[in-house]
Amino acid sequence: MIDQYGRKISYMRLSVTELCNLRCRYCMPAEGVCKKCHEDMLTEDEMIRAVEAAASLGISKLRITGGEPLVKKNILSICRRAAAVEGIDEVCLTTNGTLLPELAKPLKEAGVRRLNISLDTLDRDKYAYITRIGSLDQAAEGIRAALEAGFEKVKINSVLIGGFNDGEIGELAELTQRYPVDLRFIEMMPMYDGGDFGKDSFIPYTRVLEVLPELEPVEPDGGVAKLYRLPGAIGNVGLISPVNAHFCGSCNRIRLTADGKLKPCLHSPSEYGIKGMDFEQMRCAMEKVIYNKPAWHGLLDADNPSHAGRNMNQIGG
Ligand code: SAM
Ligand code: SF4
Repeated sequence: MIDQYGRKISYMRLSVTELCNLRCRYCMPAEGVCKKCHEDMLTEDEMIRAVEAAASLGISKLRITGGEPLVKKNILSICRRAAAVEGIDEVCLTTNGTLLPELAKPLKEAGVRRLNISLDTLDRDKYAYITRIGSLDQAAEGIRAALEAGFEKVKINSVLIGGFNDGEIGELAELTQRYPVDLRFIEMMPMYDGGDFGKDSFIPYTRVLEVLPELEPVEPDGGVAKLYRLPGAIGNVGLISPVNAHFCGSCNRIRLTADGKLKPCLHSPSEYGIKGMDFEQMRCAMEKVIYNKPAWHGLLDADNPSHAGRNMNQIGG
């Protein structure tokens, strides 16, 4: 479906849970999330109905996210059913990777074609610090399991954080020379009010180009990342710049949160509840939300934080 600004909306991000087994400092508070009433969250059947409604409006790509989608008990069933919905050509999933050692193969068998795995540092102590409770070894095992399972594509996402991982840009990018992965650096978005990182922690995507002048531009693949390649690399280095060079003019996505709120834009407070609706009602709500998708996310920087009204774990990135 085309929105009022002529953008073709073909991609939905479905968050299946707000819960997570990590506590990344830029994403959520140390104490985790206040668990909502089970009855307020979308059921599996409602999620699949929403995917069917979205597909009937021309959504062909679905990304499953969270919180951490792999802590959801019925994640394999959700993926299997979503992948079977007519009109959905591609189901992808974003994960912190820690549960992939058990789940990589079953996810592939359930129809997930591509994985994005979040990894902000290659240093054990720094990983434990940024995630508050995570283990780098577990995440690395997860990445290994993903590569062995044979997904069409594995991408690693690293949030750029000044004073934390800016000294590791080279090392992280070098993963693309050693493994068949893309490494994407993402500008940190000012989302969570009580977050540990202020103005000084923001690094623009251009820092990566300054640190790695040997990066050669390559053809875009239709995604939001500007793509480059290191000499002799197997995978690409992607730069995602939601803050310094926003891509709202070509945004093709809507979001559905685990508590059933359709979000036309990541940083807009506007939400439309579809919990409890039947197919026709969901389809009609989606049509409205897509048509009225805002032109852009508005000013976004350390002085102008996101208006999303939620932390990232409650939206799904
Ligand atoms: N738990 C999964 C994971 O970490 O990949 C999926 C959900 S997480 C909210 C999705 C993505 O959002 C991750 O790549 C994470 O690094 C990113 N993210 C979270 N907070 C962010 C922020 N403030 N700025 C930029 N990216 C952020
Ligand atoms: Fe959890 Fe992902 Fe947020 Fe980290 S970024 S706390 S892994 S939801």
